[in-house]
Amino acid sequence: MQAAIPSPRRFLSRLRDVMAGGGTGQERLDRVVSLIAADMVAEVCSCYVLRAGDILELFATEGLKKSAVHKTRLRVGEGLVGDVAAHARPLALADAQSHPHFAYRPETGEEIYHSLMGVPILRGGRVIGVVVVQNRSRRHYTDEEIETLQTVAMVLAELVAGGELVPRDEIQAVEGNALLPTRLEGIKLNGGIGIGVAVLHKPRITIRQLVADDPEVELERLRHALAGMRSAIEELFSSSDLGDGEHHDVLETYRMFAEDVGWIARIGEAIRSGLTAEAAVQKVHEDSRARMSQVTDPYIRERLQDFEDLANRLQQHLSGDGGTSAGSDLPDDTVLICRSMGPTELLDYDRRKLRGLVLEEGSPTMHVAIVARALDIPVIGRAKDALAKVEPLDPVIVDGDNAQVFLRPSDDIQQSFAESIKLRAQRMAGYAALRDLPAVTIDGRHVAVMLNAGLLVDLPHLHATGADGIGLYRTELPFMARPALPDVEAQTLLYGKILDQARGRPVAFRTLDVGGDKVLPYWNPSEEDNPALGWRSIRITLDCPAVLRQQLRALILAAAGRELRVMFPMIADITELDRARAMLDLELERGQGRGERPPSRVLVGTMLEVPALAWQMPALLERVDFVSIGSNDLMQFMFACDRGNPRLADRYDALSPAMLVFIRHLVARCDEAGVPLSVCGEMAGRPLDAMALLALGVRNLSMAAPSVGPIKAMVRSLHLGALEDYLETQIGRPDRSLREKLRHFAQDHGVLL
Ligand code: PEP
Ligand code: MG
Repeated sequence: MQAAIPSPRRFLSRLRDVMAGGGTGQERLDRVVSLIAADMVAEVCSCYVLRAGDILELFATEGLKKSAVHKTRLRVGEGLVGDVAAHARPLALADAQSHPHFAYRPETGEEIYHSLMGVPILRGGRVIGVVVVQNRSRRHYTDEEIETLQTVAMVLAELVAGGELVPRDEIQAVEGNALLPTRLEGIKLNGGIGIGVAVLHKPRITIRQLVADDPEVELERLRHALAGMRSAIEELFSSSDLGDGEHHDVLETYRMFAEDVGWIARIGEAIRSGLTAEAAVQKVHEDSRARMSQVTDPYIRERLQDFEDLANRLQQHLSGDGGTSAGSDLPDDTVLICRSMGPTELLDYDRRKLRGLVLEEGSPTMHVAIVARALDIPVIGRAKDALAKVEPLDPVIVDGDNAQVFLRPSDDIQQSFAESIKLRAQRMAGYAALRDLPAVTIDGRHVAVMLNAGLLVDLPHLHATGADGIGLYRTELPFMARPALPDVEAQTLLYGKILDQARGRPVAFRTLDVGGDKVLPYWNPSEEDNPALGWRSIRITLDCPAVLRQQLRALILAAAGRELRVMFPMIADITELDRARAMLDLELERGQGRGERPPSRVLVGTMLEVPALAWQMPALLERVDFVSIGSNDLMQFMFACDRGNPRLADRYDALSPAMLVFIRHLVARCDEAGVPLSVCGEMAGRPLDAMALLALGVRNLSMAAPSVGPIKAMVRSLHLGALEDYLETQIGRPDRSLREKLRHFAQDHGVLL
């Protein structure tokens, strides 16, 4: 017998009425199965729900014996129903009983039914139940009927996952989001510990209406959303200014998928069957996710992943909500979870509520990691499948120091992390008490403790920590956080604000230091074999003088009547300094010509990061007002050792005799010439390393805000004269590092590290 299939649309609207009607979840499910049986002209309709332990339980039936409800249970893979669940795909058989997987259950009385059609009830790409219709006759179910039952299954998914039939935590468990604790490993992008609850940076879209009133309206909405999505992709395509490399190919493929006729046609069909545009996208999406879970070929999985991405984008265009959680009511202790994020997106969040950030992608030099460091938020990158494994508001611990994330941690894990946070806070409170005390050693030697900064959010730290000024302002950070090169006006405004907030304390503005590991999103220099030794920093700005001149002009304008300190990075020979300096002088002259108010005084300095400069000290010191050692780059050039390569991270040490002797040489030359010398690399912020620097004669240290307290504590507990004598006896030794010896000295002399 061939049944007359009802108009899917009318069927869906009746289904909607049942769903919207009163009663318990079980009562509604009972009515739904009766309706399906009637509308699909089937003698039987049954709904099985997946319970914990991979068991499918008969939850409602029309046609089978009612006494079997909640009694008949099948394992996933057992019988035809189990087969549908195991493969997450529909099954339609005219002669079910002759199928090898047919499992006879006497309590149901199903022996008289010959044909069977079953489809999975899917949610989040996972099976949470099965809906089945059966007929006495040998009926051949059509593709159209299978489609209709799949659409019904989608509506049932809402009911099953709603928590009325099976407790919600059991549903989450069977969906694979088991409420079990999970630990993810990633890479450390910023240290520290954060405890909070998960907030998805891009919230999943919840579909409020499944069944449409008017398919024509929905089709029009789909067309509109597709057009919006395509033009957004085009924009991405044209603005990214990519070459012919891999990125270009990826984007091309993506664009091709956006035009995929089959995909769009399937969504159109689902709308015509009576679903809203959102529900139709969701249905097609669920189907492909379910297929994806069966695919092992990594290439095909990746392609299906592209469709998943597109479906998410399309949903956002449909709901008109491309937004992030930044504008929403955030929990007080938010841990953001995302695939990836732009630096400005992070700045959109209320910093006071952020406890951590977990990315599925990421590298230490990605912009958002640099911004997160400035905000002092622990960050883990490359946490695989984080989005799939977390549910909003799940408890999360971000252990930045050990590159791990705990999802739904057990009580004892939460407890032990809470204790280490408390200990950290106690230590911090101790440091805060040092805020107004000078950094003076026990034997009366003064040390200037300065701040490294790069964003406006760093500025409050200047006063909160009691630092003496900003020893390094990395101007590239605001450049990196913008979609385009800021013009003179925007830069003037920014630098002016920094000087305002510094309230007279000195600020050393370092000119643009990009290239190497610091990339501007809108600049795409050609690939280099050796970016750290490549076209970077002052080399770029001397070759693109307009950029440097604009920056210098903005600095001069911002300083107007105040002191201006300009520091040039990566100077390797004196001619580079002379050319940069000439540009500064020219801009000063031009400003005066225009009648602009000049800075009250201008101090010019250089970073010392390239060893070659150390052998040009007399010429350098004649020309500059200050020098600052960039120990991060200096280390990598001294030892020919990439600063970003984790395999080499511990290979050479900043407290090696080579580095210490080198710095001692620089201190002596600067002292002779009366030119102040500071250190602004990471070394200056590590108490033991900073202690060694003091013994070498360095009196000015510039560091990230969290280091100010520990460094002050170290300085105030140190008898420098004793350390100088000790270091003199050790510095000539052929050791790999003096770290352990210096640590013992500190322990024996009560120096706080
Ligand atoms: C350095 O190289 O030590 C330095 C301070 O500069 P950056 O880390 O920004 O390269
Ligand atoms: Mg550097």
